[in-house]
Amino acid sequence: MNEELRAAVDAARVRVAALHAELPRWGLVVWTAGNVSERVRAGGDGTDDLLVIKPSGVTYDELTPEAMVVCDLDGELVEGTGAPSSDTAAHAYVYRHLPEVGGVVHTHSTYATAWAVRGEPVPCVLTMMADEFGGDIPVGPFALIGDDSIGRGIVETLRGSRSPAVLMRGHGPFTIGPDARAAVKAAVMCEEVARTVHVARQLGETVPIAQGDIDSLYARYQGVYGQQDHTERRDA
Ligand SMILES: [Zn+2]
Repeated sequence: MNEELRAAVDAARVRVAALHAELPRWGLVVWTAGNVSERVRAGGDGTDDLLVIKPSGVTYDELTPEAMVVCDLDGELVEGTGAPSSDTAAHAYVYRHLPEVGGVVHTHSTYATAWAVRGEPVPCVLTMMADEFGGDIPVGPFALIGDDSIGRGIVETLRGSRSPAVLMRGHGPFTIGPDARAAVKAAVMCEEVARTVHVARQLGETVPIAQGDIDSLYARYQGVYGQQDHTERRDA
């Protein structure tokens, strides 16, 4: 590992450790569930990129920068004492297939997971959904842990979608972003809108926002806040 990559990995360790604290803080995880990762770019065509992720089965209080583990984009351990999170293969698959993605988050947050259990996309009925997700939050396929099927389901659902969140059926949300912080924000917002739309449903029918209004809300918000649509980034 050259000096530049060493520094980038160490900086990512600090960021990823700190961002894990946001998951319990926003009520998105229990026990040791949930994980945040960030890509460390090594230059070149991206095949030598690394990812920093939390180790498996470690409590949120123990997540120091030193405790984070570093893997290559095949999910193989490069650096660290603990075993990488059991979701590492899914994160690595996303980084291999969506080169513009710099951060991935996975939780089993209650309301988003409830929609995943129902197998129903969260309909875009809130302006903040148009802002953040540019439409419905889609549902991905049911997939078993242990091979590439979770990663493949995430990539197939989010490729060509504006949404940075996918609800994996019967499992829970995965979110992506240009960096780990953006993916954490998407996880927080995903849970928030899943909860609000669920509550609205208890009160009666929800009213859809017209596609033209969704498009202008999304364009304005993403422009004003300097964020780029990850589908546009891919084409850039
Ligand atoms: Zn999970």
